[in-house]
Amino acid sequence: MSLQALAFDNRFTRELPADPITGSARRQIRGALYSRVSPTPAVAPQLLAYAIEVAELIGLSEKDCASDAFLQAFSGNRVLAGMDPHATCYGGHQFGNWAGQLGDGRAINLGEVVGPEGRQTLQLKGAGPTPYARTADGLAVLRSSLREFLCSEAMHHLDVPTTRALSLALTGESVVRDMLYDGHPAPEPGAVVCRVAPSFTRFGHFQMLAARGEVDLLRAFFDHTVAADFPDLLEGTAADDAGLPLAWFTDVCERTAAMVAHWMRVGFVHGVMNTDNMSVLGLTIDYGPYGWLEDYDPNWTPNTTDAAGRRYRFANQPAVAQWNLLQLANAIYPLIGEAAPLEEALREFEARYMAHWRAMMSAKLGFASLVESDSGLLDELDAVLQLTETDMTLFYRALADLSPALLDGDGSPIDCLMPVFYRPDEVAGERRERINAWLRAYLMRTRQEGRPASERRAAMNAANPKYVLRNYLAQMAIDKAEAGDASLLHELQDVLRNPYAEQPGKDHFAEKRPEWARTRVGCSQLSCSS
Ligand code: AMP
Ligand code: MG
Repeated sequence: MSLQALAFDNRFTRELPADPITGSARRQIRGALYSRVSPTPAVAPQLLAYAIEVAELIGLSEKDCASDAFLQAFSGNRVLAGMDPHATCYGGHQFGNWAGQLGDGRAINLGEVVGPEGRQTLQLKGAGPTPYARTADGLAVLRSSLREFLCSEAMHHLDVPTTRALSLALTGESVVRDMLYDGHPAPEPGAVVCRVAPSFTRFGHFQMLAARGEVDLLRAFFDHTVAADFPDLLEGTAADDAGLPLAWFTDVCERTAAMVAHWMRVGFVHGVMNTDNMSVLGLTIDYGPYGWLEDYDPNWTPNTTDAAGRRYRFANQPAVAQWNLLQLANAIYPLIGEAAPLEEALREFEARYMAHWRAMMSAKLGFASLVESDSGLLDELDAVLQLTETDMTLFYRALADLSPALLDGDGSPIDCLMPVFYRPDEVAGERRERINAWLRAYLMRTRQEGRPASERRAAMNAANPKYVLRNYLAQMAIDKAEAGDASLLHELQDVLRNPYAEQPGKDHFAEKRPEWARTRVGCSQLSCSS
């Protein structure tokens, strides 16, 4: 098929009220969910990468992706018949404070396509300003766009719920950014990503309507969201059923709990879990100053803006998710009129999250399920991983290779783990003894489990990825792409398609962070500048 045949069916703009004004003049919007606005054309667009898996979701082929029409459409240069470009209005809590109207400042929804597996919204990020751009330019730079493109697809292949990325294009223009906000603005290549998701509805969409007291619109938007994105909830329930908002909220809690447990499983730190960056579908959304845990440090946050408070540190993500859900509960309270059931659902979030976490940890450790007496083993694991810089990803892969037979020999299990430590010289004396003691306890527990070695290893390796988008790998791909060479971007994209598999010849993408990356900007510290 060709791009002209994309089956657009724009339910969002058809069913919900629009801001009567069009164009990108900055303004506050009332009584509407979105504003129609056209993408800004790119002067000399160039396609850097596309994801065929995402193209297929909307019915496009390799040939379509290689066409000029594809580049023109997904760099913002050509609006196809059936598209209805618009930016949506939302608010949000940023770092715990209500920020008022935010909205799609540089995201433009092109329209919804009904593909072979359902409805998908296509969204350009970085295609110019919208009414919600506030003081900013609506543009995006290559470094952040490449990070978003690679990471969304990597997350998908890791089985983490996420928005997808169809394409990454250079615009041919430069964009000035002060990367570290330290008074050193510099031009960088501009880029546009086309993101794809069933919907991009955020907690902040509901919060904005509630904050403005637009309760009728809140209800209409809720009805739209349930019908479009949560049709299963309508089975056996009438759309006007008073229980529906609560059932929906419970569902959002469940999806959020599952998503965050996946983040903790793979070592992902979102970095900006503001309520405007939370999807009601429980998808990881808005890849900004995110990062991957290299050495296991529960207090690590990649975001320099978050360095002081560490609100968005790895270990705090479940608690922040719950806090964000509380804000969503406040927003939909007018639809329910009773606080108690919402409070109950929020309390249940903890149990939901813990159920996911326990299942996730037992999979990571190769157990059928956790038992009561495992709590000591888990607490000590958390401590042991922090005794010395330990690469989280390599640690779990190495664990899968450890055999309980080691308990019978003379050697120490820790000898097999030395490559996972960043400072092997530190692994001595009491520290070494304590790690070894944990490994022995773990192997004894594994022996009790009595699972065949190959089965256990396969199960663990299906929960513990070998290849993740290590911060320095993304940075190396950026450095090359900025110099005009997209080969590393393509190679990483390919390796990250099979993150759990052994890939001969690709082991160098599964190595510890090199020393040079320890302090390099983009590898250990990231800012919101994008
Ligand atoms: P973020 O921290 O990326 O989630 O962005 C917060 C808000 O700022 C959202 O409303 C974004 O659309 C907006 N924003 C961020 N960068 C830009 C930009 N370069 N131009 C316009 N709006 C932006
Ligand atoms: Mg955002």
